[in-house]
Amino acid sequence: MTEKTIFKKIIDRQIPAEIIFEDQHCLAFHDVSPQAPVHVLVIPKKEIRSLAELQGSDSELAGRLLITISKVAEQLGLNDYRVISNCGESAGQSVFHLHFHILGGRDLSWPPG
Ligand code: AMP
Repeated sequence: MTEKTIFKKIIDRQIPAEIIFEDQHCLAFHDVSPQAPVHVLVIPKKEIRSLAELQGSDSELAGRLLITISKVAEQLGLNDYRVISNCGESAGQSVFHLHFHILGGRDLSWPPG
């Protein structure tokens, strides 16, 4: 059996996280190493390795994730923010459980590195 990812351990409450939103399908919590004044991660509870692994049958979940991102950003009082999902190691993915970064609270340059 493969080792649980750190995010699966957060879902299963085996390690702590600063959770700010949870429902049946999604979880949002503060990033442990924030890259902006506001840096939150939104994840599905379902174990999906990355965007590349999303299936057609996940379309309802994908919609829920987007709505959750929007609601969480609103809950955090963000008007302007960036949403990022690093897909694959060379794109910067380090945790292989699908997640969306919400970054805000400062000016964000473009293009990102
Ligand atoms: P990525 O590099 O796109 O896969 O993003 C993984 C993110 O997870 C990084 O921004 C990490 O700082 C964050 N992270 C890793 N471990 C934890 C943890 N235990 N709690 C919260 N965030 C974490």
